[in-house]
Amino acid sequence: MIFSLELMADNFFHFLSSDNAWKPRETFDKNSLPSCSIRSSCLFILLFILSSTVLLTALNRFLQEKNGSKMAFLDGAPPERLCQPIVDHIRAMGGDVFLNSPLKKINLKEDGSVENFLIGSAKEPHGKEIEADAYVSAMPVDIFKTILPNEWASQDIFRKLEGLKGVPVINIHLWFDRKLTNIDHLLFSRSPLLSVYADMSITCKEYEDPNRSMLELVFAPAKDWIGRKDEEIIDATMQELTKLFPMHFSGEDQAKLRKYKVIKTPKSVYKAVPGCQDLRPDQKTPISNFFLTGDYTMQKYLASMEGAVLSGKLCAEKIQISTEIGSA
Ligand SMILES: Cc1cc2nc3c(=O)[nH]c(=O)nc-3n(C[C@H](O)[C@H](O)[C@H](O)COP(=O)(O)OP(=O)(O)OC[C@H]3O[C@@H](n4cnc5c(N)ncnc54)[C@H](O)[C@@H]3O)c2cc1C
Repeated sequence: MIFSLELMADNFFHFLSSDNAWKPRETFDKNSLPSCSIRSSCLFILLFILSSTVLLTALNRFLQEKNGSKMAFLDGAPPERLCQPIVDHIRAMGGDVFLNSPLKKINLKEDGSVENFLIGSAKEPHGKEIEADAYVSAMPVDIFKTILPNEWASQDIFRKLEGLKGVPVINIHLWFDRKLTNIDHLLFSRSPLLSVYADMSITCKEYEDPNRSMLELVFAPAKDWIGRKDEEIIDATMQELTKLFPMHFSGEDQAKLRKYKVIKTPKSVYKAVPGCQDLRPDQKTPISNFFLTGDYTMQKYLASMEGAVLSGKLCAEKIQISTEIGSA
């Protein structure tokens, strides 16, 4: 499911207009929070541990940008509809993309800059060395930390990454034998477990079905659930859905779950707690030929798709400037 940061901001209005708005942190009534949107917008963590920067940034954007309340879904699955066109473009421009070849090691020159990237699958013991003018890590922060060369670890920018940690989140796909909603929009629930969901049979072309709903839901905060069995997670989800759709899950003719898929991400976006802004790195690092990108790097859109895209643009700009300086 893909929707946008603007929509998250929409929900801050519900929050701000609720009785809980502007109460000091310790006076929040956890049970009466407008839980849905806040939690999803809150990057999958509870409101009372969330950095205020998240609220203020999203709200500011919603108020100031013309298309602030728009929502969009991809019309199909990300690998085909998002990634493949990018791969095609790179190849058309003379580049290449190596799939199933994760970065294994960053090999260094004597001066500490990058000599090459060693990539390859677990089946390839020796891997393949890739040389370039500039090297970029677009990996999630938790994975990058496992590959960070020891020689760089004490540098301030990399040392601070220790404080950025991904939060667990679960994504659930449910196929039903009938329509549960007719709403062509993202939906926010007051359930303490389900923050945000959509009926993909209506919102997404690839899953279009006039007769049966396909719900995609974000299950968060997922800290206490990530280690549990799929069946337990589905049971808990169905109990919540029974409250959200009593007309379909009570009486004699109840909606039936045809199939399901549970996708667990133990470390997703960085935990947006107070103080974490100071830990987010610039795209340019002190290593002359090494750059960072990804939603966790410093850019104005927090941990979101927009943030990831913007970080990529900033990274490209910084490589260009560095290369121009280098060749001058
Ligand atoms: C369930 C869920 C729902 C979300 N919903 C929304 C939403 O509605 N709106 C929104 O704006 N954001 C949403 N987000 C957040 C959004 O997905 C992220 O902010 C965004 O994907 C971050 O992009 P990224 O490029 O920084 O990192 P990622 O998308 O995590 O990409 C990092 C890539 O690095 C690859 N990788 C890992 N290890 C290696 C390695 N060793 N070598 C090479 N490559 C490697 C991974 O396979 C991955 O493709 C959601 C996140 C989750 C988990």
